[in-house]
Amino acid sequence: MAMIEEILALKKERHATILAHNYQVPEVQDVADLVGDSLELSRAAARLDAEVIVFCGVDFMAETAAILSPHKKVVLPEKGAWCPMAHMITPDQLHDLKALHPEAAVVCYVNSTAEIKAKSDICCTSANGVQVVASLSEKQVIFVPDRNLAAYVARYSKKQIIPWNGYCYVHDHFTPEEVRAARERHPNAEVLVHPECRPEVIDLADYAYSTAGMARHAHASAAREFIIGTEVGILHRLSKENPTKKFIPASERAVCPNMKRINLGKILWSLEDMSTEIKVPEPVRLKAKLAVDRMLAIGRSD
Ligand code: SF4
Repeated sequence: MAMIEEILALKKERHATILAHNYQVPEVQDVADLVGDSLELSRAAARLDAEVIVFCGVDFMAETAAILSPHKKVVLPEKGAWCPMAHMITPDQLHDLKALHPEAAVVCYVNSTAEIKAKSDICCTSANGVQVVASLSEKQVIFVPDRNLAAYVARYSKKQIIPWNGYCYVHDHFTPEEVRAARERHPNAEVLVHPECRPEVIDLADYAYSTAGMARHAHASAAREFIIGTEVGILHRLSKENPTKKFIPASERAVCPNMKRINLGKILWSLEDMSTEIKVPEPVRLKAKLAVDRMLAIGRSD
């Protein structure tokens, strides 16, 4: 409790806001001013009246906040918290892929580095990928870095989707057997999975949603039980927001260790030292912002 009080006092002194991703550990979610998905939080970072943003998530999320909030200090409490999927494609690899498909537009999932965003035509989230691809005039679309989200978007598009072979190792691990077994144990539950899951897992779900979409659906649905196919951290938020409903993980193994590297002690240190500050070089930031702004201009993004 003393540590929470210290965090809150220092937060006030620094004019800071604490943002936490849905996959953070419960005590981090509970101390945050806002809990949400990566883009939801980055947009809030730009909107909120704060001098310092303490971003409890992984590297690309803090970068996206820095892209959208150049006049605020964005700090990531654990500099080793990074997303393996975002680093599965390098700028050189994207350059070579573009050279192979010169007519194609480039769409990058928001789970990508600032440099990849800067080399893309437009960004997308797991909620609006279909809409973003449909908005493009090109018939060919390079989609990076997530092959599973690319396959999900391709279900709803007549365009040729050229995927990069990246994946989120947490979502790629869900198996059809796990989903079937969870359904057998909970026959009345609705099954919600994330579009980063494999196609054969999505085929077995009732709905594929971003984490923000899952939160909305869980609130609105008349169902009392839900099998959740995403990182287990979101169960804390879902249960807190819907205390009379039951949320069951589709797999207990769905844990992203990178997301669990932040704790209350690290938040306190980051407020004391203002570290680690995440900065995006201005030429990269401006180009990356164009890709994010183009996405925001076409509508719903959470
Ligand atoms: S859950 Fe997957 S996409 Fe999210 S930070 Fe972890 S590895 Fe990256």
